[in-house]
Amino acid sequence: MRTVAEHLEAVLAQLTPVAATTVPLSQAHGLVLTEDVSSPVDLPRFANSAMDGYAVRASEISGVTPEEPRVLPVLGDIAAGDGSPRTHRDFHAWRILTGAPVPEGADAVVRVEDTDGHPREVMIKAAVEAGANVRPAGEDVRAGSVILRAGTRIGPAQLAVLASAGVAEVSATGQLSVVVLSTGNELVPVGEPVGPGQIHDSNGPMLAALVRAAGHFGVFAGHLPDDEKAIKAEIDHHLTHADLVVTSGGVSKGGSYDPVKSVLTGVGSMEFTEVGMQPGKPQGFGLLGKRKVPVFTLPGNPVSVLVSFEVFVRPALAALAGQRYEPVTVPAVVLQGWDSPEGRAQYHRVSLSRDTSGAYAAQPVSGPGSHLVGGLALADGLAVIPAEATQVATGSEVRVLPLRPLWEIEADVVAERDAAQAAETDPAETDAAEAGREDRG
Ligand code: AMP
Ligand code: MG
Repeated sequence: MRTVAEHLEAVLAQLTPVAATTVPLSQAHGLVLTEDVSSPVDLPRFANSAMDGYAVRASEISGVTPEEPRVLPVLGDIAAGDGSPRTHRDFHAWRILTGAPVPEGADAVVRVEDTDGHPREVMIKAAVEAGANVRPAGEDVRAGSVILRAGTRIGPAQLAVLASAGVAEVSATGQLSVVVLSTGNELVPVGEPVGPGQIHDSNGPMLAALVRAAGHFGVFAGHLPDDEKAIKAEIDHHLTHADLVVTSGGVSKGGSYDPVKSVLTGVGSMEFTEVGMQPGKPQGFGLLGKRKVPVFTLPGNPVSVLVSFEVFVRPALAALAGQRYEPVTVPAVVLQGWDSPEGRAQYHRVSLSRDTSGAYAAQPVSGPGSHLVGGLALADGLAVIPAEATQVATGSEVRVLPLRPLWEIEADVVAERDAAQAAETDPAETDAAEAGREDRG
């Protein structure tokens, strides 16, 4: 049996980033840069005003106060976007708006609040330092300097700097195209009636959503019966175009009821292994076909699928996209302890709250069975228990891998705490409010 770390290493060792493509900025959100990007221009591009006010030469209004103001003739208005060349004239001012170019020779902007706001002859009531309220050219980014490094994922702020610098297209790994397949004679797609002994396929929709939430293009290609030929043909078909294939089910022991394992054993670099983890023990991975497409064959139980995705598939997606990846866990105090299997890392579903000190507290949700999707849907995260532990004691600290964005978990935590507080303090508050009313009356 391999450890989780050994299996992950074996998977990642076989992966190289997919080829880069040139994409317009409008389609670059969420992609990962394959090259450093330098700015061709200074940012700001030109010295411009940080305020609505009057552009002046600071030395010409030194010592000015509300009691001893100075009146300067106004040469005109400069609005944002006004590109005509403007020059300062001694002991004059330009009325200027935020973002407008500062005239040649002027070195400061007096805020409109420190003037009488007159359009022709402005009364200046405050002195300023040279450089005041002026955003100098190149203050933010120097022309020729690197603004984003290869391996950076392009989020909203990264789009903003690329657009500001006029970078219209970038070299990036595109969204990965991931094909998801479910296997099992018992499966029926949701929306169709289930017969005796049948169940609805939940892994397909879940895996496709996990892929999309990771920023990629997840296609659920449907479910297959436990038929070796059909499974082989379907996987082969997707090897012509997919960047990654993920199957679920049919990998436990091999034989006719585990056709995925049977039909792929010995093909390409496929390896079927037992990994020391709970859930998710039977794992398969390898590169298949001419294009050496990575293929994950995950176990069938929905909780095992989700855990396997977090532990192996998510890091693999990042590696294929050329992105650095490290899972982030949060510490939490255990409210109610549980057992953990010896020699296997355990991923235990927990909900999170806050204890009185403000730290996260973890409460197990549902039992340990990896078929329990109801409990899975209530979990905020997975408590990651090291292989050597056999018990997780009440009051001990564990690390929790969040299954939802932390801000979403936080919003629920705050809402629950507020509701609990309101329930506790309501009667007292009513009394106090009544007492207050009587006092005033
Ligand atoms: P298997 O690994 O194929 O033996 O499947 C293990 C368990 O997971 C069985 O109870 C299956 O019915 C269940 N299972 C397999 N695939 C799916 C799926 N796509 N959706 C829901 N349950 C599944
Ligand atoms: Mg099966």
